Amino acid sequence: MEITPYYQKDIECLHCKKKFKSTKVRSKFIKVESHETDFQPIYQNKEVNPLLYNIFVCEHCGFSFTEDYTKYFAPGVKDIIQTEVANKWVPHSFGEVRTLTEGIMAYKLGIHCGTLKKEKFINIAGLALRTAWLYRLQQNHEQEQRFMKIARDRYADSYSNDDYNGTQMSETRVLYLIAELSRRIGDIEYATRYFSKVIEKQSTSIEPKVIEMAKERWQEIRENKEKEALM
Ligand SMILES: [Zn+2]
Repeated sequence: MEITPYYQKDIECLHCKKKFKSTKVRSKFIKVESHETDFQPIYQNKEVNPLLYNIFVCEHCGFSFTEDYTKYFAPGVKDIIQTEVANKWVPHSFGEVRTLTEGIMAYKLGIHCGTLKKEKFINIAGLALRTAWLYRLQQNHEQEQRFMKIARDRYADSYSNDDYNGTQMSETRVLYLIAELSRRIGDIEYATRYFSKVIEKQSTSIEPKVIEMAKERWQEIRENKEKEALM
């Protein structure tokens, strides 16, 4: 029997507790060829994109979440999710192989539910960034820009509230992403300020690669400014 890249995982909904299936990609089918300057992975196999399957969409109530969401719901939040999500949900499944458009819809549901549930800013930022990457693959520049700005703002919230602490995201990476996303949305002043913060960390950071990337971007910004000055 031929092994397909996909398998089905049993998930229990954090909100309604019912079970449903969600597709995942087998890890041996995931080979990253390179990364974009905002860490977007470019996969060797363009047909199979594991990013499309990060969000579990409960087919019964519509609550949408990732493995990073906490099981805890603050008082009153379940009622809000019931009114804002579950009562409006027309039951349907996102459990099969997803198109780019379906993947984007799943992320938007995830951002909506995660925001209502008051998940950490760092998690919401990550979802917005991945939504921007999917729009990039669709060559939808306008929506890509919109979601990069949302991601930049949530990373900035995460940095000022210190809520990335204890996650896989280091301070260096958070600062770098605030800077790089600012650069990509044309907020050069903000970008320069945050690239400088990254470079200041070079003696203490455990991420020399990210420090090097920040120096390269900073250099590019400087060269562009010089070019503009000559025009
Ligand atoms: Zn549910």
